[in-house]
Amino acid sequence: MTVAFIGIGANLGDARQALKDAIVCLAQQVGITVLARSSLYRTAPVDAGGDDYFNAVVKVETSFTAPQLLRICHHIEDQFGRERPFRNAPRTLDLDLLLFGDEIHGDEHLTVPHPRVAERAFTLVPLLELDPALVIPGQGPAAGFLPAVNTQRIEKFSFCQCTRQKAEARDAS
Ligand code: ADP
Ligand code: MG
Repeated sequence: MTVAFIGIGANLGDARQALKDAIVCLAQQVGITVLARSSLYRTAPVDAGGDDYFNAVVKVETSFTAPQLLRICHHIEDQFGRERPFRNAPRTLDLDLLLFGDEIHGDEHLTVPHPRVAERAFTLVPLLELDPALVIPGQGPAAGFLPAVNTQRIEKFSFCQCTRQKAEARDAS
């Protein structure tokens, strides 16, 4: 069994609902147990145009290998109508394998840790919500990368009611 973190994002259609439905889909897979999910975050597109994104991260335990898990993620994306007209295009659902245990692996189909996991507030902030002491294999404590992303806009929402709450307000309390 391996503990892995999957990043979920969407900015087309009912993106918030897509995130919730995707987590249900992941939880229904034989061989995947969802251990925890982050809050929902509304974020500014990074290296892309289009509407704001909704993002979250789930922590799972799985009997699959990393390539098998990514294949399942792609299958779920397809079920949500994911299209790839151009790089960084708006998407109904994006599932990225952020971390897979302590594996460090790279080929043309799969790189873990995800190559941009430490560069994006929308992956770092929810990862740290789930595990404040998280270490990115080969790179060090995830918290150490936060200052470099603090110009990226990110707001935290309660997952259930999707009540808008500024991340700073929540963090300050
Ligand atoms: P994006 O980079 O915007 O998420 P895609 O979801 O279309 O774009 O992914 C592009 C490619 O990235 C996929 O073909 C996938 O095989 C590859 N890839 C490599 N490593 C990973 C990873 N850790 N998680 C998800 N996709 C990955
Ligand atoms: Mg992707």
